[in-house]
Amino acid sequence: MICVTVARNRHKMMTAEHRVLAERGAELVEFRIDWLQRAPDLNRLLKDRPTPAIITCRRQGDGGKWTGSEEDRLKLLRAAIVGGADWVDLELDVAPQIRRYGQTKRIVSHHDFTGTPDNLEELHAQLCQQDADVVKLVTTAKSPRDCVRVLKLIPNAPKPTVAFCMGEYGLASRVLCGRYGAPFTYAAFSKDHTAAPGQIAFDEMSSLYRYDRITRHTQLFGVLGDPIAHSLSPLLHNAAMQHVGFDGVYLPFRVPAAEFSETLDDFAGLDVRGYSVTIPHKEAALKKFPQCDEIVKQIGAANTLYRDADGHWHSDNTDCAAALESIHTVFAEGESLAGKCVLMLGAGGAARAIGYGVMKQGADLVIASRTADRARVLAEQLGCRSVTWSDRDMESPQVLINATPLGMHPNVDDTPYKADWLENNMVVFDTVYNPEETKLLREARAKGCRVVSGIEMFVRQAAAQFQRFTGQSAPMDVLRETVRGSLSRGTS
Ligand code: NAP
Repeated sequence: MICVTVARNRHKMMTAEHRVLAERGAELVEFRIDWLQRAPDLNRLLKDRPTPAIITCRRQGDGGKWTGSEEDRLKLLRAAIVGGADWVDLELDVAPQIRRYGQTKRIVSHHDFTGTPDNLEELHAQLCQQDADVVKLVTTAKSPRDCVRVLKLIPNAPKPTVAFCMGEYGLASRVLCGRYGAPFTYAAFSKDHTAAPGQIAFDEMSSLYRYDRITRHTQLFGVLGDPIAHSLSPLLHNAAMQHVGFDGVYLPFRVPAAEFSETLDDFAGLDVRGYSVTIPHKEAALKKFPQCDEIVKQIGAANTLYRDADGHWHSDNTDCAAALESIHTVFAEGESLAGKCVLMLGAGGAARAIGYGVMKQGADLVIASRTADRARVLAEQLGCRSVTWSDRDMESPQVLINATPLGMHPNVDDTPYKADWLENNMVVFDTVYNPEETKLLREARAKGCRVVSGIEMFVRQAAAQFQRFTGQSAPMDVLRETVRGSLSRGTS
């Protein structure tokens, strides 16, 4: 069950949000009465309530907004019990001062906004000793590894326990606590109305992560990166799993580079089945799990980690094949890259993965990059030529690949290759996928070139991961629609 926190400064807004939430399927709300500007009117909040409600009045020291006296706060909490609230939230130190009465259930809670303390287990034991129907222990994750420690409290707890971490590192624990037996998790009314750091909006919790369907059998996947908040991968993979009816959930894991290896060791306790890997962990991922195909070794970077049937971890790089397949979508039957002159702009991670594939297909590859040395080194490794950035117009490529971020949102007026240099017989592949139609692709299309958008590559690399993760073919149309929908809403 998802409990949605309603934290507004007016009663009218709180009751209005409560009605909207009930219509959207929420089953429990938490009224944060410490947010109210005027004296809380409990009767107004509880009368004709469309779902059960928790009354919470948080002190400032516990992350709340209550400015009145402690005596008045306790009076309000007692009044909530007498007034028939379904639940009250009582902090660990005040719980013994407030007696159980009537049908009102008690959440005994502790919040730590500074970190995840060393004496976590001790704190949990203290909470469990209280007269509580549910114990709530919420800390701040300073590292993704804190989530594992906090989630471990739940399964064998003597009292039903809601435990998760706040902050970006803690996001996964908010979704996963139910998998370990937490009676509910907390969500916000919307992204704009969060009451705690890292709180996930109700819609996201219910529709994207499908919290209420997560059980201990639900298989866990995720994307490792830093930063990670803007990754589209959770949208894609969760939509695809939902579409094919696969019992899985896919989460964003923000992991700092310095903690990559230790985090994966700790996450073994969460029984994660597979990861997508993004900047800055692609090289570290391959080092951690070196079992892979020869081409992945040559590329020297993995964007996918998955476990085989025996539980052994493997690395893969789905970018390479995804790029080649994307180019082939505009080739005529029987047409190939073999012998074709390919000019690739950029010499970073994406260029490296694509370059190996292009060379393997027998193309005549030339690399141009802003930093000449980077292009030269990559060309040497691939066994091809490089030219300086200023000489990139001197080639007459049959296939042009942009593997730089030039043209990417918000710099949509940039292009890595002038319109005058384009010829109508070229194939132009832009790895940039936001926007779908970059300036380069627009100008190439106008010239009569065959064009391929970065969305093709993005969707194909995700589809190959999905296949590795679930053993099932990805629904390509669902992936494409999900990316396009997200880009048009501006969520990336
Ligand atoms: P990267 O490792 O940072 O490499 C970026 C490359 O672009 C470097 O060669 C860099 O040159 C060059 N570059 C950056 N800014 C430039 C500028 N203003 N002018 C000229 N050259 C510039 O990044 P990456 O991981 O390879 O990613 C590159 C792009 O590929 C991304 O922006 C993304 O749009 C795209 N991509 C797409 C997919 C997909 O699935 N569609 C997947 C991965 C990547 P310097 O060495 O001089 O910095």
